[in-house]
Amino acid sequence: MTSPLPVLSPSARGFRPLPLSQRSPARRPIVPLLGRPPRAHLWHIGCQMNEADHEMLAERFAEIGFVPDVALDDADLAVLVTCTVRQNAEQKVYGKFRELTEWKRARPGRAIAMTGCMAVEHGSALLRRLPDLDYLFDVRDSDGFFARLQAIHAADLDGPVSMPASDRLLAYVSVMGGCNEMCTYCIVPFVRGREASRPVAEVVEEVQRLVDRGVREVTLLGQNVNSYRDPRSGAGLPELLAAVDGVPGLWRLRFLTSHPRNAVPELFAAMRDLPTVCEQLHLPVQAGDDRLLRRMRRLYTVEEYLEKIAAARATVPGLALTTDIIVGFCAESDEEFGGTVRLLESVRFDTVHLQAYSVRPGTAAARRPDDVPLDEKKRRLNHLLELQRRIALERNRALIGTTVQVLVEGRTEDGRPYGRTRQGKIALLAAHSAVAGQLVTARVGGATAWQLSLEAEAAAA
Ligand code: SF4
Repeated sequence: MTSPLPVLSPSARGFRPLPLSQRSPARRPIVPLLGRPPRAHLWHIGCQMNEADHEMLAERFAEIGFVPDVALDDADLAVLVTCTVRQNAEQKVYGKFRELTEWKRARPGRAIAMTGCMAVEHGSALLRRLPDLDYLFDVRDSDGFFARLQAIHAADLDGPVSMPASDRLLAYVSVMGGCNEMCTYCIVPFVRGREASRPVAEVVEEVQRLVDRGVREVTLLGQNVNSYRDPRSGAGLPELLAAVDGVPGLWRLRFLTSHPRNAVPELFAAMRDLPTVCEQLHLPVQAGDDRLLRRMRRLYTVEEYLEKIAAARATVPGLALTTDIIVGFCAESDEEFGGTVRLLESVRFDTVHLQAYSVRPGTAAARRPDDVPLDEKKRRLNHLLELQRRIALERNRALIGTTVQVLVEGRTEDGRPYGRTRQGKIALLAAHSAVAGQLVTARVGGATAWQLSLEAEAAAA
């Protein structure tokens, strides 16, 4: 097994985009004349931001004349969009890289590029460690990488390649990168840098292109998406939502991930007033005790969080609320954990993403002892899982008899169409009652903690 690299490269600490790096001139990849446009295979791991970056890179490849997103066997260049949030994500990247090494050596002229959080965190140490790695670039600053590809493949490039029609109904669009918050447990500000937003017009154009290719539901992404600010006009997330809502052919719009500090009344009003914006708010609270929140540097109190939740619910009818909780953070006492239990009981979220705290080297929290024993973390995690299972079941059962709208995404093995409601709940329809891409309304006939079951008569919405 590959041992971990040292934490945080100097460039990561300085929040500077990593400049394009590539192998020394003596070992540059051989680039044969292909006699056709070069082809790129893209692979990603990790969060939705990486999925959005994958899509963005595919578009850039098409713009410069590469055929994007081909199968690995057909590709001349493989690009890895990596993640470093957990050690096992890094191990998966190394595993993928081993596979690519075989692929590269099977045909002269093939090359491997790496981007994403691992590229920024470890920088050129990766080039030393991985002799078959040809290019390393920061996805926030990819112009140099693409310019280099254009130069070395000039003889084979023949203008932009049209993007293939998409069979996807759902897509992520990254509207900003980075985070200015510096929560003590989080590596994101070190590997994704300071917040930088894309202009509204650029986001709208991208959404329009996706809709033209068949996408019907878009999720706007940012690590701290509700601090979005158009770099030219200063427009915030509510204005961005209004602009994207106006894209003809878009049915649904969501956004991830919001910070409670930036959850403002104007945002809730936009959610209520804009037809495509779904009634779903993901607002990570992380803990239900003020001392714990201070140690995490979350910069709000439980009371302030509850006020935001009350305002959101009062403004947006039928709002589904989801959150993230970290269990067993440094020195979490029984009393502090009790605060989190009480918070879950009082807010009654629709879904809670739970995780046991694990140290991320390089963060401020890594300097504190990780002193809640693993068994205790598991006990607390299981307690919250069981509590939330009960709450989710009660909330879903309360929907029985109501009508919901579902965007059908596919079919289960036993032939039942499935999709999500506007609130983001998974819903199963009666067998053969609808096909992927249809928007249907139907009555809820049954519910578990995790999904809704809809009655037979579904109507196209
Ligand atoms: S707001 Fe989110 S992304 Fe930013 S530092 Fe905190 S946990 Fe990390």
